[in-house]
Amino acid sequence: MTRVYIALGSNIEPRYNYLMDAILLLGEQETITLNKQSSVYETKPVGYTEQADFLNMVIEIDTSLSASQLLVACQAIEQQLGRKREIRFGPRTVDLDILLYRQKQMETKRLTIPHPRMHERAFVLVPLAEIAPDLKITGFNRTVSEMVKDLPAADRQGVVKWAPTDISD
Ligand code: ATP
Ligand code: CA
Ligand code: CA
Repeated sequence: MTRVYIALGSNIEPRYNYLMDAILLLGEQETITLNKQSSVYETKPVGYTEQADFLNMVIEIDTSLSASQLLVACQAIEQQLGRKREIRFGPRTVDLDILLYRQKQMETKRLTIPHPRMHERAFVLVPLAEIAPDLKITGFNRTVSEMVKDLPAADRQGVVKWAPTDISD
């Protein structure tokens, strides 16, 4: 079994349901065990900013799948939950990015691990620090919590803990 961290994001309603459905679909696979999940954070879009705010979170799993098999599984779930590929970095029902696969480093046409932009993204590092503060990102000699401290304050402030409102009251 391999320890893996996956980042989830959604900015098309119902955002929270898309995240929870993706976690259910991952967890129900015999090859995947869910260990931990971070809180859900609401985050300002980065890069292509003319789009709705995201909900983001990170989960820790153990899996018997290879990294490329796991990418296929993640992409199947994105498709199942209605992801359309239109604008790069644009709105999406659900996005599943493989952040880390044990200490593995790889770069192929389809898959780069660690995820090449994770170290600069507050919307990834803040939830990751919640479940794995002392983890070191392969290739960086710093822990995740140290990397969060080094983020620009404005980036960190764009990532705010979010909770679903109970529609029954
Ligand atoms: P970003 O990768 O900057 O977060 P994105 O998530 O919007 O952007 P996508 O359109 O979801 O990008 O993915 C583009 C391609 O990235 C995928 O088809 C996949 O082959 C590739 N990819 C490379 N490395 C990874 C990774 N670690 N996890 C998920 N996809 C990856
Ligand atoms: Ca992404
Ligand atoms: Ca992606």
